[in-house]
Amino acid sequence: MGWHPYPYVGREFYAPFGKFEVNIDLPSDYKVAATGTLQDYDNFWTADAKEGELQFESLKEIDADRRTWTFTAENVHDFAWGADPDYVHSSTPFDEELDLHFFYLDDYEETWERLPKYALQFFREMKTRFGAYPYPQFSVIQGGDGGMEYPMCTMLKGTGKISGLIGVTVHEGAHNWYYGILGSNEARYPWMDEGFTSFAEEEVINAIRRDPVLNPHARAYSNHTFLASKPEQLEPLSTMADRFELNRTYSINSYSRGQIFLAQLRYIIGEEAFNRGIQRFFNEWKFKHPEPWDLVRIMERESGLQLDWYYHQWVETTKLIDYGIREVEAGKNNTRVHIERLGTMSMPLKVRLYLRNEVVMNYYIPTVEQYGPYPENDHKSQSPWPWTHPDYILNLPVEFKDIEKIVIDEDGFLADINRSNNTYPKEEGQE
Ligand SMILES: [Zn+2]
Repeated sequence: MGWHPYPYVGREFYAPFGKFEVNIDLPSDYKVAATGTLQDYDNFWTADAKEGELQFESLKEIDADRRTWTFTAENVHDFAWGADPDYVHSSTPFDEELDLHFFYLDDYEETWERLPKYALQFFREMKTRFGAYPYPQFSVIQGGDGGMEYPMCTMLKGTGKISGLIGVTVHEGAHNWYYGILGSNEARYPWMDEGFTSFAEEEVINAIRRDPVLNPHARAYSNHTFLASKPEQLEPLSTMADRFELNRTYSINSYSRGQIFLAQLRYIIGEEAFNRGIQRFFNEWKFKHPEPWDLVRIMERESGLQLDWYYHQWVETTKLIDYGIREVEAGKNNTRVHIERLGTMSMPLKVRLYLRNEVVMNYYIPTVEQYGPYPENDHKSQSPWPWTHPDYILNLPVEFKDIEKIVIDEDGFLADINRSNNTYPKEEGQE
């Protein structure tokens, strides 16, 4: 779209990639943590105690008042540094190409000493799910306010509990894949950074927790439903970061609705195509500033489905999703389920059928505009639903009397703003 000067107002950053060499001249007792890798490392740090794989390092004292630290970094679009004479510094290798570093004040060593183990798990999960981190170093630095992402490092306050420290490290760390390495335009598409980062964060946290849940994105869906109840505050996802009228609309759009963009895309095209696509997007577009349709195009290729209708409705409009089961009717040896589209946005539907003999069947009703069935065989694809029609009849090859329950999107991955009409027979308390 060409070059545009962009006044920084306060929300998001966007800049071209470059090669940095930064010299920082400081009183000689300061310890420095930064983007990039430190040159002449052994002149600054000396190995101390080792606890397992975690190497503690102390500053080499010199006979001078000041000294200059030089950091170099390639393929980054920003540089950040923190300094404190009192930093505790430890490091641990992730693999032969990557080292993780930690800088914090010893008041907080009890929680920070437990962080490296989780940071290593985070890097492993990100590598298998979203793509390999391409830089030689990553540093978690205590400093700044709550938590902020920078290339090859993050700064966070980290004065609370270990769970919070892990959550913020995972979130700010995951930013490196999106804001950092892909370098999408955060000013124009804040949801491609905060949303995709939040998606990765919840996927990784869920993978490393003791008792994983079915839908780690449930909170994002409920934020969306909350915003949908205030239609005057809704603005399309395509709004530029600084142009949202309210902070709340900005944050629910960028974080939650951006996160749902991916979670719901996986609902539409299935896990296998999605997993291939999200990795391919990272590998093909790293350091190249992708536009949203670069991701959509890859997901179309991996799934064999058209997805422009999804992108348009979810990103460029404020249309909302609501489907309901109106009526279930007995036919001759079959059952007719009358489903209605009550919302303004069209989506494929996953419908689960429970029979009294404990058999469970999964159906998928594609939309006409996706031009193809569900790519995986755990759902039976039905004839497509034209979005021009508000009604659809799902013919089930079972007798009415054998049916125990029918549910639209039982797993909760469709951003349906009214779930009270998704189940037949109506559950207690439903209208
Ligand atoms: Zn963030």
